[in-house]
Amino acid sequence: MGPPLYFSHPACLEHETPREHPERAARITAIESSLAERGWLGYEVREAPPASRKMLVAVHSPEYVDAVRSMSESGGGAFDQENVVSQGSYSAAAHASGAACAMVEALLAGAAPVAFCATRPPGHHARVGTTSGFCLFNHVAVASRHALDSLGARRVFIFDWDVHHGDGTNDIFRATDAVLYASIHQSRIFPGTGPLADEGVRAGEGYSINLPVEKGSYEDAWFSMLEYVVIPAAEEFQPDLVLISAGYDAHHDDDQGGCELEASSFAEMARYIRGLGQRTGAPVGAVLEGGYALDALATSVCATMEALAGDQPADSTAPDFFTARAASHVGFHWKL
Ligand SMILES: [Zn+2]
Repeated sequence: MGPPLYFSHPACLEHETPREHPERAARITAIESSLAERGWLGYEVREAPPASRKMLVAVHSPEYVDAVRSMSESGGGAFDQENVVSQGSYSAAAHASGAACAMVEALLAGAAPVAFCATRPPGHHARVGTTSGFCLFNHVAVASRHALDSLGARRVFIFDWDVHHGDGTNDIFRATDAVLYASIHQSRIFPGTGPLADEGVRAGEGYSINLPVEKGSYEDAWFSMLEYVVIPAAEEFQPDLVLISAGYDAHHDDDQGGCELEASSFAEMARYIRGLGQRTGAPVGAVLEGGYALDALATSVCATMEALAGDQPADSTAPDFFTARAASHVGFHWKL
């Protein structure tokens, strides 16, 4: 098995947003200058291909994909004040989805055990036919669909640690048992979804795990949810592939959220997920979502990549009685 893989593409810098918009190209340049200073942490850097229209319409409606493309090709426009499209936006978003697809192809082919995609715009708020929260296409969803439909994966586990609920991803997979979606997010902020009671529907009932935390939460709240609720459920699920919706706006320097995580907190969560991947034999791929405080973002991405690639994943599985007690404490009803 080769070195860990890093995917990006210069096209992701060409999605232009208005001045003062928090989601900007400097996010990627900040990450990449930190990585370059540190020898890319031993990752092999790969240029991401664009996702094909077929890959995109496996998740999004054809009308929506074509609307983004034609708005982009006609020089740009806006769906609303926050969600803007420039001439380079379609290509940026298509390369971001394409990076996630190329990543899961490499991971499932056994080319590497872990990988990271540093792309923009982010994706986890994008729904089947709508843009939202700076997102155009839902890269994690497109890559999950690609893994399930074309690469032989049967079960994909998505862990979303962005400070905002990944409403788009949750909605896209809410009725399926092929994707376990777990999110820890700050309650009562955008997009206002993801209550504890939202557990999925129909065949997907029990396959959405939504864990809101209060404003001002420190890493101990996130770690306990992860260790006692998310990891045991994911272990029971036995995924073939693990994806992280890796947003960094729960960092205490990031004013898009109100939580108190630090770079080392993301590293610790990455170690938990890497440990899960090792125990279940599933490769782990992370896709950049939010994160708008540039120094915090760059440092946290480096910490995550270092932890994913490390030889010493933390964690042990929690003792059974502890797990059950924690699960009942938060009212989680996993279908065992
Ligand atoms: Zn976010």
